[in-house]
Amino acid sequence: MTPKHVRQRGVLHLIAVIPLSLSLLLLDSRLWGITLGIAILVGAARYHRLNIISLILAALCAYAAGYRIEFLTNPDGGVFYLQHWSGLMTLAWIIAVSQGVSVVGQLDPSGRLLIKILIISSGALTLIALLQGQWLGMMLLGVLFVIVLGLRTHAVPPKWWSHAAGYGLAVAAIVGLVKTPASVALLMPLIALVLPFTSTLSIAYTHKLSGSWLDELPIGRTRALIVMYLLSAYMSVLAFLVTRTDLAVFAGVIAGTGIIIGLGWWSLRRLPHTEVNAKKFVLFGTSINCVTLDEAVQRLESFLSTRASALVCTPDTTAILQAQRDQRLRTIYELADLVTPDGTGIVWAGRLLGAPVRERVSGIDLLEKLFSRGRKLKLFLLGAAPGVAEQAAQKLCERYPHLQVVGTHHGYFRPDENKHILRLINQAQPDILLVGLGMPKQELWIYENRAKLNVSVLMGVGGCFDVWAGRLKRAPTRWQRLGLEWLYRVFQEPRRLARVRAIPVFVGQISLMKLTRTLIE
Ligand code: UDP
Repeated sequence: MTPKHVRQRGVLHLIAVIPLSLSLLLLDSRLWGITLGIAILVGAARYHRLNIISLILAALCAYAAGYRIEFLTNPDGGVFYLQHWSGLMTLAWIIAVSQGVSVVGQLDPSGRLLIKILIISSGALTLIALLQGQWLGMMLLGVLFVIVLGLRTHAVPPKWWSHAAGYGLAVAAIVGLVKTPASVALLMPLIALVLPFTSTLSIAYTHKLSGSWLDELPIGRTRALIVMYLLSAYMSVLAFLVTRTDLAVFAGVIAGTGIIIGLGWWSLRRLPHTEVNAKKFVLFGTSINCVTLDEAVQRLESFLSTRASALVCTPDTTAILQAQRDQRLRTIYELADLVTPDGTGIVWAGRLLGAPVRERVSGIDLLEKLFSRGRKLKLFLLGAAPGVAEQAAQKLCERYPHLQVVGTHHGYFRPDENKHILRLINQAQPDILLVGLGMPKQELWIYENRAKLNVSVLMGVGGCFDVWAGRLKRAPTRWQRLGLEWLYRVFQEPRRLARVRAIPVFVGQISLMKLTRTLIE
């Protein structure tokens, strides 16, 4: 584009804005100021002539239209009138913030840092505008939001977006915050917004001037800036608290935060290790095989072909939690030939931490898929209340006529009956021994007796016999798809509530782990 064309476009741009400003004037007498201000900035930046003059002009427009910082509030509720300093203060504020946002925008070419800062800032401001019922403030924030959306569509946001966003933020802050009488609810976000912003900005400027020390930090430049922003936000709120309360409270809050972070870190460190990479998924010491249902069935078939005496485990989320504290259970999972992720929580954790886990593979789905392949199999069912295993056997044979249940025994036997049960199983010569004693009893029983048994596959199946016998209903497919099968089971067996109570702990642990990883990486 020739300089002449650029000039023409710039003039057209301004002309187009005038009717818009005039029509906005009808809505609110101040709106023309911000429209013209943004038009000047965008126009100047787009045509490569953005300089301090255009910034001053834009700030003057806002000031002339009535966006003025006329007084500052102090923490005790008093008001300090700026009088004739008001104009200078307003101009300085608008220039500093719009220039600052644009510097942050240029520092991180991906635009992610800028978007994050804008989202945090405009979120805080919207809340305040809402609290005060300031529709103008909310409208300005709406404009800011559109700008942020616009930024998201660009792989590299153009310069003028960041100028316009900074300007919008500066003016919105005047409308929403400074012009209103003092109150804790208003001043706190202002401090939390401005101090971190200016401190991050000074770091950004230093970085710009003195080279790339930020790049040398192990967490990278963008993350370092975000961490500094959040830390300074936290410190700003604390600093504000000191003005409202006293040093004891201040010290208490700092100590409390330190203790919470320390306890979280310590509790994560003392758990069995977790290792995640593209091939491996070790969750709190339990190595999970990231197989699909079909792959798991193939593994079972190969165990059956080689008569491997293989141990198959299908832990759910609560089993993984139990294994954190139970070394024996972890050892069993370690020795197992196949450990499938039978829990939405496990699949979620795997995906969040970057493990190649693809789908949930529950014990019941695995077995039913294997049975449906038409292979002739001899089963022994051990477990559940008296009569249930027999009923399950009958139903299974009706559904899969090629199956042969060569023996059953209930799961409420005394230790001295164990020998008799082992004899029963070995005499029946099943291919698969299904043990339904509940977790971890079934795993421990298999572990202790595996060497004495002559079976190709040993597998703990929890409550499968109750389902096959028709005593318990499986959750409908929709519940399963939503990952809520555990909730459906709680409705059927309220005693399970005690077990699932621990799931929030698991969610907290995984989230904390993800957070620390993100910061460290
Ligand atoms: N059970 C058993 N013997 C016991 C305790 C439990 O046979 O000493 C059976 C119980 O009747 C039920 C199954 O084990 O059929 C436990 O099912 P649950 O769904 O609770 O298994 P989990 O989810 O614990 O693997």
